[in-house]
This record gives sequence, structure tokens and C-alpha cells, in this order.
Amino acid sequence: MIKNNKVNLALGVGTVVLTGVLVAADYKTSKWKCRYCEEEFKASFSEYFFAGHTPTRRKLMCPVCGNKGYFKCIREIKYRCNNEKL
Ligand SMILES: [Zn+2]
Repeated sequence: MIKNNKVNLALGVGTVVLTGVLVAADYKTSKWKCRYCEEEFKASFSEYFFAGHTPTRRKLMCPVCGNKGYFKCIREIKYRCNNEKL
């Protein structure tokens, strides 16, 4: 019984840590494009974390024009090897 609890605890902690890593990686590589002024911006982590979202959009406030809405997420992944070839 005690052994099972320890396994469950380890699985629980592992899941939380893995989710945290994935969320942090997602946040780091994401920025959003305002549908009103077309400006691209990064949201604060708390804004990002608690905002309602769809797979490709997130409900944020544009820091440039102040409008709120579901803004499209733009992936910001840069591959080092691509730059080296240029
Ligand atoms: Zn805007």
C-alpha cells in the first residue's frame, strides 16, 4: 500500500514537472499577432498561462493598441543550423 502511494506520488510529480517544461517551452517559442493593429507581441507569462485559448489562438490584450481578442499564435522557433548555412 505504502509502495503504491509512493509510485503514485512519483507519477504525479513527474506529470507536473513534464507539463511545466512543456508549457515553458511553448511560452518561450510563442508570440501573438494583434488582429487590430497587426503588431506582433509577447505576452507576460501569467497573462499567457491564465488566458483562455484554442489550439492556435489565445485571448490576450494587445500591448500596442490595447484591444482584446483571440490572437493568432506565431511560432518563433529558430534553427541554428539554418543560419550557419547562410
Ligand atoms: Zn494591437
